[in-house]
Formats: sequence, structure tokens, C-alpha cells
Amino acid sequence: MNPQELWQRTLAELFIVVNETSLTKQWLLQSQGLELQNNVLKIACPHFYIRELLIKKHKDAIEEILQRLTQEKIKVELVIQPLKTSTTIAGPLFDQAPKNTPVERTEAVKPLNALGLNPSLVFENFVVGSCNRIAHAAALSITEAPGQIYNPLFIFGGTGLGKTHLLHAIGNELTFKNPNLRIRYFTSEKFVNSLVEAIRFKKDLREFRASFRLVDVSLVDDVQFLGGKDSSQEEFYHTFNELQASGSQVVLASDRAPKEINQLDDRLASRFMGGLLLQMGLPDFETRLAIIKTKAESLDVILEDEIANFLAQNTSENIREIGGLIQKIKAYHLLNQPVTLQSVQKLFGKEREEQVKNKNITPDAVISLIAQNFNTSLSELCAKNRKKEIVLPRQLTMYILRKELNLGLEEIGQTLGGRDHSTVLHAVARIEQKLKQNNSFIRTTIQNLKSSLFV
Ligand code: ADP
Ligand code: MG
Repeated sequence: MNPQELWQRTLAELFIVVNETSLTKQWLLQSQGLELQNNVLKIACPHFYIRELLIKKHKDAIEEILQRLTQEKIKVELVIQPLKTSTTIAGPLFDQAPKNTPVERTEAVKPLNALGLNPSLVFENFVVGSCNRIAHAAALSITEAPGQIYNPLFIFGGTGLGKTHLLHAIGNELTFKNPNLRIRYFTSEKFVNSLVEAIRFKKDLREFRASFRLVDVSLVDDVQFLGGKDSSQEEFYHTFNELQASGSQVVLASDRAPKEINQLDDRLASRFMGGLLLQMGLPDFETRLAIIKTKAESLDVILEDEIANFLAQNTSENIREIGGLIQKIKAYHLLNQPVTLQSVQKLFGKEREEQVKNKNITPDAVISLIAQNFNTSLSELCAKNRKKEIVLPRQLTMYILRKELNLGLEEIGQTLGGRDHSTVLHAVARIEQKLKQNNSFIRTTIQNLKSSLFV
């Protein structure tokens, strides 16, 4: 394992044992393993807050995980420095999908043994960013040696973040490499329905069992659907055990972690947690930008950089919705003249206004969200001091109150401990300046705060 792999693996394990919000997880994913020398792992943190978070909250847990992974006592050294994007370390921030279309490939190799796979969901059109880098890497390594590395692999995360896409990508890649592999993609709902049908029509259960068990790779989607369905869980438990016993690879996806699935049998939950458990995060700005460009290209929509940037700054984190948005633009584009920034802003502005109105977001909600994410409190944010670690969250609070809730400068000053309107003005300007300088930490943070407020 190179330092970056070791670090990513460590973070993946850390996320399983600690409580972090999706925003703070994204911060942590922005750190990078630089080098491992004399049992010291040097980590680059692109921002002061990331380093603080790692040192203050997680240092012990991290060193414990490192010891488990390497069987050695390893110390971490956290340095504040921008990330290197050279390929020797972590590859670019996101990888653009190569142009070759998946369709040609699947036509050339007619898989006889793959069930349920959608040939258009492949690694080639999966955009990799910090939110899904680890899950993507784990998925890829399964295609190198199915059944041998992570078994099972359990991927979880919110809807529209690419879990289903990854499952199909694994299946398609394996089919491409070895058309003789027996691969089966199914949702747990499908499993339940097949079982119900077999019982209802008094079919031979052996046939049902064989169809799920005589398989080399099982890709099981929407596992959360098993919750509360006792007989299906029982059956699935035995299926799972048999698959494991025969060395067959199992990959599972769910919208939440095993422990959080309602009424999931403990035995099954612990089986799911026996392999590698990975969470998919929300895509950050760069990843959204890459997705927007990839989607636009595949839909033959020409977007100027300015427009793509605007969209990436303003879209939600649900990748499915980003796809939908591009389709809307395409429809609009077909009816009207070329896509311009103004027309896109108009299309967009309307939706955003509706959201703010409908959600009725209060200043208090903004303040407590920021306090929670920055690990501070309302009184700290309102206090008169200028403590280093409070300056930024305070400025961000003012910025969001101004830009998203359209509060007046005076009102914001009052809300935050009776500050002068010029202080507020200055704070908002500071954040705007950082955005202009393309400070990706600030941009992702604002984006995440906004999406937590608006979803
Ligand atoms: P989930 O199963 O997590 O709800 P999906 O895999 O169904 O999400 O993804 C929703 C949509 O977004 C799909 O059309 C998928 O192809 C697309 N998508 C998700 N993640 C990515 C990604 N990283 N790159 C490209 N497209 C993506
Ligand atoms: Mg899905």
C-alpha cells in the first residue's frame, strides 16, 4: 500500500467508527497521504480546519486503525499544505471519462451468464471525485480479483449518489474480462418477490435457491428493503452464507448502514459488516462540474465553461438531479435559442426562490447548522472575541444569512451578538473574495451548508 492508499483505507475505517456529518467527512476526504517514513505517516491537509478536526477529534482513533492495518505503531504528522495532484500521489481530483462508448463493448462480447446488468452503467462513464473515490477504488479492485479482497463489500449512502451505477459497473467490467463468470444483479425487493412467488405457487424452493446460489458474483441492490421481512431475511442469510462458503463475491448497496436498517436481523447485519463497509459522500464542486460536463456531452448539449461553473455552484448534490437538470436545459434549448448564462440562471432562479419560500428557513437554523459543523456553539458565534477558529464560521454565517436568506446587514449584525453593519459587510466581502480566488474549501463548505438547508 502506498501512503495515499493507506490513508484512504484508514479514513474509510475511521468513518465507520466515528460520528461525522457529511460535510466534515468531505473535509477529511480532502486530506492526502504524502509519505510514510520511519513509522511516521505524513498527511497533507489543505485547510486549517481539516487539520484541527483530525488532531482534536480523531488522532487516537487514526493511530489505532493504522496499527491494525499495518501491524506497526505509526504516528501521523499533519501538515497544512495544498494537495498535490500529480498522478504519483492520488491522481487528478477527478478522472474524466474516456470517450469510448460502453455499448460497442457489450455488443462485441455477448455475455451469456450475466443477469440483470444494465450495459450503459460502466466505470468509463462514472465520474470519480473525493465523494466516491474510495468506493470506486474498492469496486475496481473487486474486478481484479472477485471473491478475494473485500468480501462482502457493503456500499451505503443517500439516494442518487451512484451506488447502483457502481454495482452495474462491477458486473459489466467482470463480464467483459471473463464472459464465463456467472454474475447476477438483483435488488433485495426482487429477492423477496421471487421467494414469495415460489412459496405462493408451491414451486420447488430448490430451484429458487439454485438461481441465487449458483453464482460467482452477486450484486445486491437496495438491501434496506429487507428490513422487517423476517422470512426473506432468513432465506437471504442462508443464501449469503452459502455464497461466502463457496468463495463467491458479494457486493451489497443500501441507502443506510446495516446497523441503521430497521428490523434487520443482527446475524445478517454482522455478516454485512464482516467485510468492507464504505459510505458514498456528496459530490463536491469539482465532481459536480465533471459530472455536468460528462452528462452534457452525452446528451449533446453544449455548455460554455461559464454556464457549467454556474450550474456546479448551484446544483444539489444528488447526481440523479444533476442529470435531470441537464435534460431540462436540453429541452429548453430545443425550444429556444442557444443556451446562455442568462437563460440558465432564469431557469434556475425560479426553482431556488420556490425552495427558500417553501422551506421557510430561519436564521436560527443556519446558525445551529454552522455551529454543529464547526464544532462550536451559538454563544461562541455571537461572542465579541476574535478567536481564530471562530472567525471563519462567523463570516460564513453572515454570508449565508445575507445571500440565501436575504436578511439586511443590520438584522444580521443584531442576530450575531449586536455587531455593526459594516462588520457584516466586511465579512460577506471576505467570503466573496475567497470564492473569487477559487478557494475550494470555502466553496464546498458553502455548497454543503446550502444543500443541508435546502434538502
Ligand atoms: P443510487 O443507486 O445511489 O441512488 P444511482 O447509481 O442510481 O444512485 O445514480 C443516479 C444517477 O446518477 C444515475 O443515472 C447514474 O448513472 C448517475 N451517477 C451517479 N453517480 C455518478 C458518477 N459518479 N458519475 C456519473 N454518473 C453518476
Ligand atoms: Mg440505487
